[in-house]
Amino acid sequence: MSTVDIKDVTKVWPDGTVAVDHVSLDVKDGEFMVLLGPSGCGKSTILRMIAGLEDPTEGDILLNGEPVLDLAPRDRRIAMVFQDFALYPHMSVSENIGFPLKLSGVEPVPRGEQIGNVASALGIGDVLARKPGQLSGGQRQRVAMGRAIVRRPGLFLMDEPLSNLDSGLRAELRAEITGLTRELGVTTMYVTHDQAEALTMADRVAILRRGVLQDIGTPTEVYGRPATLYVAAFLGAPRMNLLEASVYVHLDRYIALNFGEQALYLPWTDIRARAVAHYHGERIVVGMRAEALTPVAPDAPGDVLHGRIRYLEHHGHESLAYLDIGATAIMVDEMGSAVHDHQVEVGAFSKISAAFSRLTGRPSNGAAPDREETKQESVLGENGRHHRRPAELAVRLAPYPAVSPGHPLAVTVRMDSLHFFDDRGDRIDVGWR
Ligand code: ADP
Repeated sequence: MSTVDIKDVTKVWPDGTVAVDHVSLDVKDGEFMVLLGPSGCGKSTILRMIAGLEDPTEGDILLNGEPVLDLAPRDRRIAMVFQDFALYPHMSVSENIGFPLKLSGVEPVPRGEQIGNVASALGIGDVLARKPGQLSGGQRQRVAMGRAIVRRPGLFLMDEPLSNLDSGLRAELRAEITGLTRELGVTTMYVTHDQAEALTMADRVAILRRGVLQDIGTPTEVYGRPATLYVAAFLGAPRMNLLEASVYVHLDRYIALNFGEQALYLPWTDIRARAVAHYHGERIVVGMRAEALTPVAPDAPGDVLHGRIRYLEHHGHESLAYLDIGATAIMVDEMGSAVHDHQVEVGAFSKISAAFSRLTGRPSNGAAPDREETKQESVLGENGRHHRRPAELAVRLAPYPAVSPGHPLAVTVRMDSLHFFDDRGDRIDVGWR
């Protein structure tokens, strides 16, 4: 039985860096809690404070309802697995796993039994006699986990344990880790910067930005109703489309969301209409995930946006079209690699196409984003820096569709799946969480 209560904890490093900023969260007995956020947002610092490797500057930490800040790390019944796990190279797998038991004086026979149980649960029962140098990366990581859990800790802390492994192995081990911790019923806190890992593994996810807790909930809650623009932008692939809209209320009829060249109309019957109506005459951010958009015939009635395909990405099981719809997108800073890579990709693409034009004397393909157009405008909101840039609406298509860059495309929008955020990046909604 193990619960964790983090109460208003702050960590300021001697150089003044605020790594963790008034974070409160509780982890229930047996729960698998994932701490998610980009590098440097304070995830590891939180784990290290729970383990007793660092002291909070302010706040309190309770394990099983008891304050533990005065307890030494070894007295907290915590096991920790890091990304750079270190096994003893001269010991066999069996000796590595059994080492903590040997230290605490467990006799050889029961020790062997416990090692065998843990090793077979982790699928490494057949390599017990080998040395770490004779194992694959995935097997070594399993041994490190085995060594951590063999003493049946009350709490399991894992800091990016899979990030050194290749993607196939990561997916396999994800399922194994969650399976094992659930089977043992051990409370687990797991740190990652990978949103897919968080959504697939967690009972609940806590999302951090610059040491501040942004949102906490089940994967369905944080994905379905993200508390802030940052959370909306961080979760999901492709990223949520975030469009700037000006709001105009037509009393008793609808609320127009104007995206520049086109508009969508939120009916008064929508449960969130009143909340959005407060922003009459102002600009908000409207979020739409690719799954809320379905390609339709250009003359289809209803809530339809029209655009032209800028470029296509083929992913095998589906293709993604990025549409120019004459709207402005809001980009959120510190998204980690995914959004950033995409921006770099677009930048690199326009460089290549400019070089192509210079060499051939011909204008480059219409699909190439125009350099001027992709220039970003920076906006400092209260919740961090956002950028404006021409929107490229991500839309899911069948694999290898019969369209190409430059083609027009219309999509119907599921209005009840839209997300709304104010200029501080906070969710506009009613009666939620
Ligand atoms: P994450 O685990 O999310 O990548 P960390 O918790 O490691 O982030 O770091 C949070 C912030 O604290 C970062 O700005 C990092 O540079 C800083 N930091 C981490 N450890 C130390 C330290 N020992 N001394 C000073 N600053 C640190």
